[in-house]
Amino acid sequence: MTQPIRVLVAKPGLDGHDRGALVIAQGLRDQGMEVIYTGLRQTPEQIANTAVQEDVACVGLSSLSGAHLELFPEVVRQLRARGAEDILVVGGGVIPDEDIPALQAAGIAHVFTPGTRIEDVAAFIRAHVHNHLPAEHAVPGVLQIDHIGIAVHSLASALPMYTQLLGLTVYHEEVIADQQVRTAFLRVGETDLELLEPTDGSGPIAQFLQRRGPGIHHIAYAVADIEASLRAARAAGYRLIDEAPRPGGHGKQIAFLHPKDTGGVLVEFCQRGVGAAEEGAVE
Ligand code: ZN
Repeated sequence: MTQPIRVLVAKPGLDGHDRGALVIAQGLRDQGMEVIYTGLRQTPEQIANTAVQEDVACVGLSSLSGAHLELFPEVVRQLRARGAEDILVVGGGVIPDEDIPALQAAGIAHVFTPGTRIEDVAAFIRAHVHNHLPAEHAVPGVLQIDHIGIAVHSLASALPMYTQLLGLTVYHEEVIADQQVRTAFLRVGETDLELLEPTDGSGPIAQFLQRRGPGIHHIAYAVADIEASLRAARAAGYRLIDEAPRPGGHGKQIAFLHPKDTGGVLVEFCQRGVGAAEEGAVE
């Protein structure tokens, strides 16, 4: 069950134009958020009440009226008065640059100027509501880095650096058919390197190589409970590439988060020893 970030888009004050706010609301919906729009001419009290009742993670304030210096901080005060200081407040609209420091000092986390891309607004919200997450949203039991996935054009030409120069040993090789990839695992202490060679020109590793060339592809965290980890990430508003765990290399269960939500680093959750009794013998 997906739980998107809930955002209240609100228009405090008297100005009667909400086209911009409606565009923002729709844009954030397109970014996967659940958006409630207050409608025009809301008082700060009404906005704070709605934010609390609707249990939103973020309030986005839009103002064209010029009254933002009074209205935006008043919304923050009203939220605090209701014990809702953990709700992220951002603003936008027609706001002179020189007003921005005062708004930030009053608790507006960010003021978006006209022309800001909706992707950047959504990214800011995702990054900052995460900072407000209660502890139960954290992934339970991250044990260690399980492995680092490295995309290579060819195992044969990539391996000598690892085996000859570093003296590591390939202890497991496997073709993962549904990922169109051939993997070779080498162990360094408690952590594996997983070299990934595409088996044809169309799988995810082939696409990665075309786009970015060979290099680090993902970092896999060993977790105690992959299902619970995916639930935690989903609840925290992260998009998932894999809605459910699937078999990865070496008999592990794996799932990927969306790199757009993880700072450009592809993050894999990995649970060892799930249905991997035979594979365990390889180690
Ligand atoms: Zn991996």
